[in-house]
Amino acid sequence: MSADTAGIDTLRLTAEEAAGLLERGEVSSAELVAAYRAAIEARDPELHAYLHVTDDEHAGDGGGVPIALKDVITTKGVPTTAGSRILEGYVPVFDSTVAARCKEAGLPLLGKTNLDEFAMGSSTENSGFGPTRNPWDTTRVPGGSSGGSAAVVAAGLAPWSLGTDTGGSVKQPASLCGVVGLRPTWGTVSRYGIVAFASSLDQVGPLAKTVRDCARLYGITAGRDACDSTTVELPAPVELPEREDLRGLRVGVPRELNEVDGIEPGVRERVQEAIRLAEELGAEVGETTLPRSVEYGLACYYLVAPAEASANLARYDGVRYGHRADLNGDGDLTALYERTRWEGFGAEPKRRIMLGTYALSAGYYDAYYGQAQKVRTVIKQEFAAAFEDFDVLLSPTSPTVAFPLGDKVENPLAMYLTDVLTIPPNMAGLPGLSIPCGLSEGLPVGLQILGPQFSENTLFAVGHALERALGFDFVPPRLAA
Ligand code: GLN
Repeated sequence: MSADTAGIDTLRLTAEEAAGLLERGEVSSAELVAAYRAAIEARDPELHAYLHVTDDEHAGDGGGVPIALKDVITTKGVPTTAGSRILEGYVPVFDSTVAARCKEAGLPLLGKTNLDEFAMGSSTENSGFGPTRNPWDTTRVPGGSSGGSAAVVAAGLAPWSLGTDTGGSVKQPASLCGVVGLRPTWGTVSRYGIVAFASSLDQVGPLAKTVRDCARLYGITAGRDACDSTTVELPAPVELPEREDLRGLRVGVPRELNEVDGIEPGVRERVQEAIRLAEELGAEVGETTLPRSVEYGLACYYLVAPAEASANLARYDGVRYGHRADLNGDGDLTALYERTRWEGFGAEPKRRIMLGTYALSAGYYDAYYGQAQKVRTVIKQEFAAAFEDFDVLLSPTSPTVAFPLGDKVENPLAMYLTDVLTIPPNMAGLPGLSIPCGLSEGLPVGLQILGPQFSENTLFAVGHALERALGFDFVPPRLAA
């Protein structure tokens, strides 16, 4: 059975229910932490969703609902590796803004979750510390790059977590693990203290079992931060969704986002059913089109993101953080940089650094990076046009359900294609919510709900109404048994 300690069933308990237990004095925060630690001890050895589990001294003295943070989120006194051997042994001396806000809200830190190295990947197999397995089927990936943050929620190893999403890294693992994930509007959540990947795209987002939990955690983390000049004050306070219908809502179904090659039939069927359900709940559903966004989004992303990554990763030089190559007294400073980077970075960051520096080099800059920026503007315009007619757009989050470990590791292009539906809105800086909308071959399917900038409250309202109507059971059957 799944009841852990003090009768707390971490597989089913939502953050909201946990907060209720605390408020009514039915459990203490320490008992909650103990229950999750027991669950971690029992189930994490086979999943490897955590890179680091905190002890009492480092969990903080908060009296709230405990949380897990993706290991790109800087935590004072708690190791932060970004899934990279190059940061092995790095213990930050400061907190990221989001970690500090979680602390201020009283959320004890359970630990740091596994990810693709520097958040580069879609399966968590690029982690420098070994892959995470999907709680629904341990022969499959949990998605990525926030695979650990999705897996801990699905497996009851944390009631909620934070991930980061550059090209889909919250939405896609949420989809593959049957949990809810929000990629917020770019600029709403501080990146101060987040290990940078592609700064014009990176966002921090919550993962949880319910839309209301995601909204709550978004409310804790979002808003202007003086330490990150790209953040803004939220135009409206975060609302916890309550409505159970969708009357008056205009729902657009972008043809290309629903029909691109590679969408599995089971995924398409579940998403079509969810769209019909939206109609039954009172929404007006119509078709729309985003022809160039889907056709060019991925290519555009794979110029912009590696270009920015190549600049952001220049700081790992063996001098200031983590791994330093041992030259045995033989070699100069350049040799130290080269050897450290050769030893410390895995294959994917190396690939991105090469792609990025090439795209940015004199003579190619205009043809690649400059051109990609123009395409990005076109993508923005296409979405803006669609949002003149519709409040939200619906599509699958991922074209496939969770795939077997090892399936795509030898083929970077196949791995990159897993984000074909999440990247276009991200290039436009838009928010997106993924909610589970059923099963295909026994594995969760995610529905992507997209809105214009700062439409998080609308996304929560739509997600909550659909979630209630769908009645998805988020507990993986193999763990419930
Ligand atoms: N899978 C995409 C990539 O590898 C997106 C990753 C992310 O959002 N961090 O770049």
